[in-house]
Amino acid sequence: MAVSPADRDPGRGLAPDPDRGIESDRRLLDLILHYDCNLACDYCTISPQMRTRVLSTAAAIAAMERARADGITRISLTGGEPTIRPDLLGLVRRAAGLGFGEIKLQTNGLLLGAGQNLARLIDAGVGLVHVSIHTHERGAYEALVRRPGTYDALVAGLRALVAARVPTMADVILQRSTYARLPAALRWLHALGITAADLWFVSLTDHNRDNVASMPRMTEVLPSLAAALSCADELGMRVRSLHIPRCLLGPLHEHAWNPADEGVRVVSPDASFDLRASRLTPGTRVPACSGCEHEARCPGIRADYLDRYGDAEFAAARGLALPRHLPVVPVVPVV
Ligand code: SF4
Repeated sequence: MAVSPADRDPGRGLAPDPDRGIESDRRLLDLILHYDCNLACDYCTISPQMRTRVLSTAAAIAAMERARADGITRISLTGGEPTIRPDLLGLVRRAAGLGFGEIKLQTNGLLLGAGQNLARLIDAGVGLVHVSIHTHERGAYEALVRRPGTYDALVAGLRALVAARVPTMADVILQRSTYARLPAALRWLHALGITAADLWFVSLTDHNRDNVASMPRMTEVLPSLAAALSCADELGMRVRSLHIPRCLLGPLHEHAWNPADEGVRVVSPDASFDLRASRLTPGTRVPACSGCEHEARCPGIRADYLDRYGDAEFAAARGLALPRHLPVVPVVPVV
């Protein structure tokens, strides 16, 4: 899979105090079990070289034990695609045995509708599933994931989750080829029985660094996003927008959400780090931020976005006529 709430990122090293200012019962261990995947999404930040990296079973268990010793009660098992790991069920059982109160699986969902896979995962302890649907139409989905014949497996997985009444959230990517269909995607999810979604803004990092055509301006996306959020409100869906700052969302800014606020310890095959220190997490202030009403709740802007488009949109949203590419200030120090 290409994106998850813990951001696929080798990170900038271990931040010294990952739990500072976080309520202990919301802290999360995000365990990136490997980077391998059974899809090949066209916007994926994971390179072929990264796909060979694996967190060993022993290292995964050690990370779980450390997290529990530190009082962390939530865990997300992710990748890459975690359901292609042969030891996944054992790791879920181990997480349950260690007392994690919430065990989440972050997946592309393709294997959940097959045989007893979902029943086994639930029996082992999975209580929450995030499914990356990317986009909702067959042709667009299979073109994006670059694996013909996978759409039916996605839908079967979603239907299995709904039938089993597993709390499920869809992850939807906002990139140039998908954002216009966003209102329809939310209506499609609602019709299936899925009432929660996270909307991710595409990132120009790692393997997707040079795919600049995939990233639209945030202001280009806004009309479709606003229509989608309004539609979600009417349908009673819980939809969160990630990485688009509140100043651009205007009256819909309460939909903005920054997963790093919950205190996420990421353990990957490469590193252990606080999600706030990830370069895929918004973390840069620009001059327009000065005096902003949202400053206390806003993590800032993503560096890859500012590198591509500068800060003019944020200045305009604040009613300022500032030139592009003014000096920017990192909110989270690079470690
Ligand atoms: S702090 Fe900056 S980026 Fe955040 S909402 Fe305000 S102006 Fe926008």
